[in-house]
Parts: sequence; structure tokens; C-alpha cells
Amino acid sequence: SIPLSFFAGIGGASNAGVLVKGSNYLEALASTKYVVFDKTGTMTQGVFEVSGIHHASIEKDKLLELAAMAESYSTHPISKSLLQAYGNPVDKERIKNVEEISGHGVIAQIDDKEVLVGNDKLMKKYGIEYKPCHDVGTIVHIAIDQKYVGHILISDKIKPHAKEAIARLKEVGVKETIMLTGDVRTVANKVASDLNIDKVYSELLPQDKVNKVEELLEKKQEKEKLAFVGDGINDAPVLSRADVGIAMGALGSDAAIEAADIVLMDDDPLKIAKAIKIAKKCLRIVY
Ligand code: ADP
Ligand code: MG
Repeated sequence: SIPLSFFAGIGGASNAGVLVKGSNYLEALASTKYVVFDKTGTMTQGVFEVSGIHHASIEKDKLLELAAMAESYSTHPISKSLLQAYGNPVDKERIKNVEEISGHGVIAQIDDKEVLVGNDKLMKKYGIEYKPCHDVGTIVHIAIDQKYVGHILISDKIKPHAKEAIARLKEVGVKETIMLTGDVRTVANKVASDLNIDKVYSELLPQDKVNKVEELLEKKQEKEKLAFVGDGINDAPVLSRADVGIAMGALGSDAAIEAADIVLMDDDPLKIAKAIKIAKKCLRIVY
């Protein structure tokens, strides 16, 4: 039978905007010692602003138009941001074919052109040559018909409560905070140092994130639990592997919400420590 305090715990959590899918997760949550999370949409807003467009053999407006068109079927925060910056409706009849390559970007056939939009990994994969760019930020490269035409520099903002959220985790007994991201090292390291995150692993493919979480699960003691917090489609595999999977519910993908054990209704990272606190109180674990 389930102790009555568990119902009170789940109820209390839901009043705080934390949806717990089962009482067993309260126990795991109360023993959470490692909190692993994704950067984009979890610690940052996941809404990128375009801070520069660098173009070579193509007009600036044309570059943004082709990038936005290529991204028009993607649900990635980067694609939403490029479409927002473009600001015009996309004529989908001109898009003949489109494929999203997770952790890389997109490849699309627009009119009679092959358009690549994505990171260094995507350019490397298709053998596109270009001069390295030293701007700090997330860089979205664009190539047309195998030829590099420029890049769009975008940047995301840290969520207002993110730093406090990391500090609070330590107050509720978390030993280590770990950030896993597909974004570039410069951006990842800056976010981690601004927020006082203990460890950061960057430029990871979705599968690398799964491997990293499995490695962490193997190294820790059985009674110490590991929570993963994420929001994207890519995060679903890690969310289901972690002892406790926590999804951002407001802007999170359906796949992440489905795979999670706990959903934060308002995407507020402060709610991670809050949920641990509620779980501990309900289990009367003294810390
Ligand atoms: P994260 O959620 O940690 O940022 P992702 O795997 O979603 O990781 O993305 C990793 C990187 O892959 C992004 O920073 C970006 O460089 C590139 N990328 C992924 N999807 C797209 C896309 N639709 N358009 C452009 N770049 C993308
Ligand atoms: Mg993500």
C-alpha cells in the first residue's frame, strides 16, 4: 500500500507546478545526488536572437530566406528563431525535400538548389570548405550546392532563475551538477561558469548524451539517484534512462513530456530543487 504522505507529496508538488507521475519518483527524487541537464531550453530560454549575418557570394536577405525555408519543417529552437528573424511566410511549394540530421542541422532541396543549414559537424559531413569563424556564439553555417555562402550568428539568454536554481540544488543535498549540450564549447563553458555548474560536456550528439548518462549511472552508488532535466525531442532517450527524468512542460516537446517521470509546468529551473525539497519533506528525510 502507498503511504498517505505520498499522496500529500504529489498534491503539494502539483500545487507548486511540479507534476509527479508516480509515488516511486518521490523516493528517487529525495535521494537525488546528481542532476544532469541539457542547456538549451532548460538553463537558457531556448529563444535565439540573430546577432549577425555574414554573407559572401549571396545577398544577406537571400541567405536568411533560404535558411528559414530550409528550417521551416524543424521544431528545433534554432529553426524557430531563424523563422522569427526572417519574419515572412514561407512558400512551402518551393521546398522539394527536407531532412533534419539531429545534432547537425538540416538539408533541404529548395527550388533547384541543395541548401545545408547547420553547425561545423554538418559542414564536415558534406565536405564543405570554409574559413573557421572565431565569433563567440552559436554559429549556423549555410552552404548552397556544395558551396559555402556564409553564416548566421545567434545567441540565447540564460533563464532569470538559472543561477539561483543551481545554488539551491546544493542546498537540498545534490553533490554534483552536470550540463550536457550539443552546442559549441565556447558557449557551453560560458554558461557553465556563469551559473557555477560543476561539470560541462559540449558538442555532443544525442547518442553521446545517452552514453554520458549511462557512464554516470554506472559510476555512482545505487542509493544515490541521478536526475536528468531536458526539454527536447533528443532528450527523450536520456529522460527515460535516468533514475528520475524531469521535463520542461511549457515549451518542451511532446516526446520529452511523454518520456519524463516529472514535468515542470512552467519551465522554471528553480522547481528542480523545489521538487527535491517536497519529496524529502514527504519522506521525512533529514538533510
Ligand atoms: P542542444 O539541445 O544541447 O543544443 P541539439 O542536439 O538539439 O543539442 O543541437 C546541437 C547542435 O546541432 C546545435 O547547437 C546546432 O549547432 C545544431 N543543430 C541541431 N538542429 C539544428 C537545426 N534544426 N538547425 C541548425 N542547427 C541545428
Ligand atoms: Mg535540446
